[in-house]
Amino acid sequence: MAVYRVAVIPGDGIGPEVIEEGIRVLSAAGEHFGFGLEWEHFPWGCGYYLQTGHVMPPDGLSILHDFDAIYLGAVGLPGQVPEEVGVRDLVLAIRFGFEQFANVRPVRPLPGAPFPLKHVQPQEVDFVVVREATECLYVGLGGRYQPGDRQFEAVRHLRPTFARSREIALQTGVYSEAGCRRVMQYAFVLACQRGGRRLVSSATKTNAMAFGMKLWDDIFAEVAAAYPDVGAEWQNVDAMAMRFVTEPQRFDVVVAGNIFGDILTDLAAALVGGLGFAPGANYSLTGPSMFEPPHGSAPDIAGRGCANPVAAILSGAMLLRHLGEGEAAAAVEEAVARVVAGGQTRTPDAGGTGTTAQVGSAVVAALRRSGGHWGTRDAD
Ligand code: NAD
Ligand code: MN
Repeated sequence: MAVYRVAVIPGDGIGPEVIEEGIRVLSAAGEHFGFGLEWEHFPWGCGYYLQTGHVMPPDGLSILHDFDAIYLGAVGLPGQVPEEVGVRDLVLAIRFGFEQFANVRPVRPLPGAPFPLKHVQPQEVDFVVVREATECLYVGLGGRYQPGDRQFEAVRHLRPTFARSREIALQTGVYSEAGCRRVMQYAFVLACQRGGRRLVSSATKTNAMAFGMKLWDDIFAEVAAAYPDVGAEWQNVDAMAMRFVTEPQRFDVVVAGNIFGDILTDLAAALVGGLGFAPGANYSLTGPSMFEPPHGSAPDIAGRGCANPVAAILSGAMLLRHLGEGEAAAAVEEAVARVVAGGQTRTPDAGGTGTTAQVGSAVVAALRRSGGHWGTRDAD
């Protein structure tokens, strides 16, 4: 029997609440399909920072390195820990450290989930955003500078506001040829595998960012030329944001840089019923990949047991597929779809009164109910 080792970082706020349900569901899937999951928990995050002064131990990455996958809830304790600490020193450190360059966020509304558009049917919408997750404005380069600093004086003359400020901040975006090419190739291959409209839409903004986005566009044209069977188009990211609302059915695969993809995917989450329903994964070709719902620690609802675990459970299904357990992944997705369509068990974000644990139990029950014909693959 295959046994997979998964590093679990539940994190802060609703992170531990939703990850607990994900683990229950994935473990139940393992029992049904005849594979084992060994969960090793790491109590890292902003709570850990309050106790130790760091969000993960200095050798955190080498601890994670040998796991088959990482399952992350969310980090962040705004008001208690500086906002940049959790995301930068944990989430981004892991993404950068393991070169998890492809942040993949499917946008497929489930029947029964809240759907905000009147002019489109939910079943017409089925696309995926591939966000480059290691470069761009999130690389962490820059600084804050005062008059007299070399960096300040170099830009002082560019704007009246710069000249009369007591401080400026530089936040530098870095885009690389290899980084663009890698994520774009990933997007084109995904469009082939999906076998749908076979269209890759690139989110750009060359009119205002003529260095970084021009490099992005140039590489996109090169990569697109290597996939003649797949359509390619570029759209300015602002217009694309509008089209996510006006005609989301036209998209198949969207490829975007780090910050554009971050914003577009929270917008896209509204199409699937909100952040509580939107899954995500960060794929690496060289180290462990990480599976995490795109939502944050949701301090406004944390501790009440009412967070929607669907995003975390569906991220867990992506984890199973990555481990090679595609049948189990599909079964988890089907069980979630059945619970959402049934409508009896919903958390408040979906208009119900159910708890996080009740939704998790309903998914486990749906998984078990339809389990009869699966049998157990005990021979491989
Ligand atoms: P958020 O995603 O935590 O919350 C945004 C809104 O969506 C809130 O109203 C919240 O209640 C709701 N929501 C989110 N997930 C939900 C769920 N599963 N069920 C029901 N409702 C849900 O974003 P935010 O408020 O901008 O950030 C809160 C904290 O999380 C901050 O500290 C931020 O830095 C951090 N954060 C961490 C990650 C990460 O760990 N990857 C990602 C985003 C934000
Ligand atoms: Mn985000």
